[in-house]
Amino acid sequence: VPELPEVETIRRVLSEKLPGRRILNLQTHHAKPLRPQSMAEFEKQARGQRIVAVERRAKYLFLRLEHGSLLVHLGMTGQLFAAPVVLRPAAGKLSLPDQHTHVILFLSGGMILYFRDIRRFGKIRWVTDEQMGELLQRLGPEPLSSKFTVEGFRQALTRRRTSIKALLLNQAVVAGIGNIYADESLFRAGVAPQTRGATLTLAQISRLHTSIRRVLREAIRHRGTTLSDYFDPESRKGGFQARLKVYGREGEPCQVCRTLVRKDVTAQRGTHWCPACQPGPKNKTGPRLLNKSRNNPA
Ligand SMILES: [Zn+2]
Repeated sequence: VPELPEVETIRRVLSEKLPGRRILNLQTHHAKPLRPQSMAEFEKQARGQRIVAVERRAKYLFLRLEHGSLLVHLGMTGQLFAAPVVLRPAAGKLSLPDQHTHVILFLSGGMILYFRDIRRFGKIRWVTDEQMGELLQRLGPEPLSSKFTVEGFRQALTRRRTSIKALLLNQAVVAGIGNIYADESLFRAGVAPQTRGATLTLAQISRLHTSIRRVLREAIRHRGTTLSDYFDPESRKGGFQARLKVYGREGEPCQVCRTLVRKDVTAQRGTHWCPACQPGPKNKTGPRLLNKSRNNPA
């Protein structure tokens, strides 16, 4: 599932390739990713427009056009590929348009950009500046911007009875984090994922704030995490999967303390953590009793 580092990697690749090119023509092959827009409306609004810039906010990508933008959310398995319009006959190569390709943009200068999505939870549609503004307004701060402060983060967590794992996945608290980077940030901060937001100490909040930024920066530097479906627009895999410390490592010894990494359900998501490195809040119950789903691991 693409999160901030993967979407940012895509943005950087596309920023080198797309600005200045015109959408000469386009094909839509499936209506679902465009909803509530119709295929005809999408084609009408995008055709003939020039791509001005490629921007990212949270897990959203925006291809800014002369009028409005193409909004892309990759959902679970969405991919954007840019390729020369003359395709070599390389059967089976992932980046070639196939039955999972829902939208193809034919760009000036001999390039195609296409949106591929096996599970079809992704979105691509044309939005006005006003619609984009409404969408962005609902999102919390960008974690790598100066708007994400320890004090703002603390305020967003106070009086929240939900787990810190759920709060990190809440895009209104902080934008762009999903399951992988939530688990990795919590591990690096030494905070148990089941800890309730309101019970976090200022020291824990501060450590978590730092670890979120470090993990995301490091993941961007390694071009994101490829576990199965994530590829950049040039069909390259990410490299951060080798650096994951807990995500996907359940049953393996913790790299820090050799305790076995656990996978439990927290915030309805499979959550990877080390019970020794991530002790619970300093109260009678500890993380084990707070985690109701402990008896029901994913
Ligand atoms: Zn450990």
